[in-house]
Amino acid sequence: MNFKHDIVIVGAGLAGLRAAVECVEEADVAVVSKVLPTRSHSGAAQGGITASIGNEEEDHWEWHMFDTVKGSDYLADQDAVEIMVKDAPRVIYELEHMGVPFSRNKDGKIAQRNFGGHTSEYGKKPVKRACYASDRTGRVVLDTLYDQCLRHRVKFYQEHYVLSLVFEDKKCAGLITYDLSSGELNLIEARAVLLATGGCGRIFKTTSNGFASTGDGLNLAHRAGIPLMDMEFVQFHPTGLYPLGILVSEAARGEGGILRNSLGERFMERYAPTVKDLAARDVVSRAILTEVREGRSFEGGYVHLDLTHLGEKKIIERLWEITSFVRIYLGIDPVYEPIPVYPTCHYLMGGIPTDTDGRVLQDESDAIAQGLYAAGECACVSVHGANRLGCNSLLDTLVFGRRCGMAMKADISKIEHQPVSDEPLEKAKEMLAGLLYHKGYEKIDVVRRNMQSLMMDYCSVFRDEEGLKKELESIRSLKMRFNDVEIVDKGKNFNYELMEAIELGHQLDLAEVILLSALYRKESRGAHFREDFPVRDDTNFLKHTLVFKGQEVRYKPVVITRFQPEARVY
Ligand SMILES: Cc1cc2nc3c(=O)[nH]c(=O)nc-3n(C[C@H](O)[C@H](O)[C@H](O)COP(=O)(O)OP(=O)(O)OC[C@H]3O[C@@H](n4cnc5c(N)ncnc54)[C@H](O)[C@@H]3O)c2cc1C
Repeated sequence: MNFKHDIVIVGAGLAGLRAAVECVEEADVAVVSKVLPTRSHSGAAQGGITASIGNEEEDHWEWHMFDTVKGSDYLADQDAVEIMVKDAPRVIYELEHMGVPFSRNKDGKIAQRNFGGHTSEYGKKPVKRACYASDRTGRVVLDTLYDQCLRHRVKFYQEHYVLSLVFEDKKCAGLITYDLSSGELNLIEARAVLLATGGCGRIFKTTSNGFASTGDGLNLAHRAGIPLMDMEFVQFHPTGLYPLGILVSEAARGEGGILRNSLGERFMERYAPTVKDLAARDVVSRAILTEVREGRSFEGGYVHLDLTHLGEKKIIERLWEITSFVRIYLGIDPVYEPIPVYPTCHYLMGGIPTDTDGRVLQDESDAIAQGLYAAGECACVSVHGANRLGCNSLLDTLVFGRRCGMAMKADISKIEHQPVSDEPLEKAKEMLAGLLYHKGYEKIDVVRRNMQSLMMDYCSVFRDEEGLKKELESIRSLKMRFNDVEIVDKGKNFNYELMEAIELGHQLDLAEVILLSALYRKESRGAHFREDFPVRDDTNFLKHTLVFKGQEVRYKPVVITRFQPEARVY
């Protein structure tokens, strides 16, 4: 079938829905999502959204900006960070007016709590900056935005999987979707296409990410010739539930939780004497794994997150969801016993390069890819640089989702629908038939597990040249094996095996891009720690990596406005 809209948004997480709400009154807007919209990973966000509204103690956007830039290990573009942190208070009040039920403090104001790396007076002490709704912040914001979309009659193509982007005359003119419920292919033409497809944590064996976080949008753009930026920067969250990887939000430490090794020591005092357990995530993840390596962890390689001193009332009131996870999955009650934790793959700092209005950039000279936009975790504006601070991602999705919506509604008045040939639809049909009817010996699950283990072993918290090179070879041979995958289910209705095969193709491509970016960056910065180059090297590497199709690696400069790079001490 063929459909036509002014604007098509791929992704029903916070970035996609916020953009839709922004432009729906002035344009015909559709949202495509491979999962039911409210199942998007944004709904899993627990901790909160940062804004210097100062409801608990003095705060300023300049301090928020400093922390974000320092947290990014000076790789974030400071013009973009300034836009984000200045806009943050407006975002919170807007959400409140839309109906988000934020938790309140005793004065009846929106409550705020501590989160790692957020400080007052340029690093002097932790500050309460994260606004939250218990530990269900993402859930309530996602539901509220979804309600707003329904109210404004945004058209949803739910459980439609985007197979490819359509370019005509070098301009993005729409996309091809596969309707999971019927197995039908559709061409959706559009004057503007927004990719808001989230992250790719599922490339790694241990991850906090939902099953849908397979990085499709990133690779759709890459296959269409768009470079991917700073892909070596993959964040490991220090407190994944051992051994599952499910997230125990940083809110637990924000509320006073303490990390302890097998000797009972509060080991973060050694690694970050000022902010201790509230240091940035890359710092805490490395600290935990150093404790494990040096033999001060529990058997199996984990440490303890201790909440027992917080008391039942606080734990149940503020950390209810985390508590229920721990009780259900491990049979442990955090009110009385410490929680076993270890680092889990959590967030991709890199992504599709965009300007501060979400327009996709196609090279290091910042040339714009016509008709194509990106926002949220799949985009790289870049506000998180080499390491994202907690609660800055929901903010990023909402600030830049909205700006993208504004840019698209302004731009479409200048863009006509491009006539689209039959070719993209025919190609998609061929691709599906090729996958469905190929006789092979490999299983998706086996290739995927291999990839996930390799990424974990050689490209997670600690990396070095030997491991990265070895893994690159292994991923390339897995790509060959992927070509020999056989799909058993030939059905048309909800053929998840087919969808997973397509996702695996994206994941393998992205694994290669991540490895290449990591191999070429011969320094340590933020989440990218090279054991063979353990020091940050601003002379040679204070720059963004761009990996182009065909695996060509190029660089572009970082925008530095207010804060010159300094040593990063917490
Ligand atoms: C467990 C967890 C807790 C977190 N907690 C916090 C927190 O407290 N604070 C914070 O700031 N950040 C947090 N984060 C990070 C933050 O939640 C995410 O970065 C953010 O929500 C991403 O939003 P998004 O809109 O970019 O994408 P997502 O919410 O991931 O949505 C992606 C959308 O893209 C669609 N999609 C993808 N591929 C396709 C395709 N091929 N075809 C069609 N549709 C497609 C999906 O269906 C989905 O609708 C957390 C992340 C996790 C995993």
